[in-house]
Amino acid sequence: MTPFICNHDGSCEEVRFCCTETEMTLTREDVERIEALGYNRKDFMVRVNAGFCELRNVNGICFFYDPKTKLCRIYENRPEGCKYYPIIYDARKRKCIIDKDCPSGETVSREEIRKICHKVRRLVETLQWEAAHGESPC
Ligand code: SF4
Repeated sequence: MTPFICNHDGSCEEVRFCCTETEMTLTREDVERIEALGYNRKDFMVRVNAGFCELRNVNGICFFYDPKTKLCRIYENRPEGCKYYPIIYDARKRKCIIDKDCPSGETVSREEIRKICHKVRRLVETLQWEAAHGESPC
């Protein structure tokens, strides 16, 4: 199993903050990639609202997080949003921001935000398009 590596070295040593009470939204591609590993979407995904689908939490922790090893069970195939976190897209302000809930947010440089913002924006557009066109995975 691949060790969990936070994008930004920080203070989440006991339980990875971003894997606790996760609200990570999933694209169709995320779900198909994870199912190809042998998981069933009914187990790891929940429908929230307006056609958006999120990772399921079990006892407050992401379905894929292993509290014993403190590793993500699908690290190399984790959802695209997990790869970009804590950089998220503020659709109202139309810009990438650092999630204020991330305790390591201050370690992310402006350069890092600038480098991946277009990917984060594209991800949000994909999620919105899938939800609006009945193409979401749940
Ligand atoms: S899929 Fe992995 S990285 Fe993403 S929230 Fe779950 S445990 Fe964390």
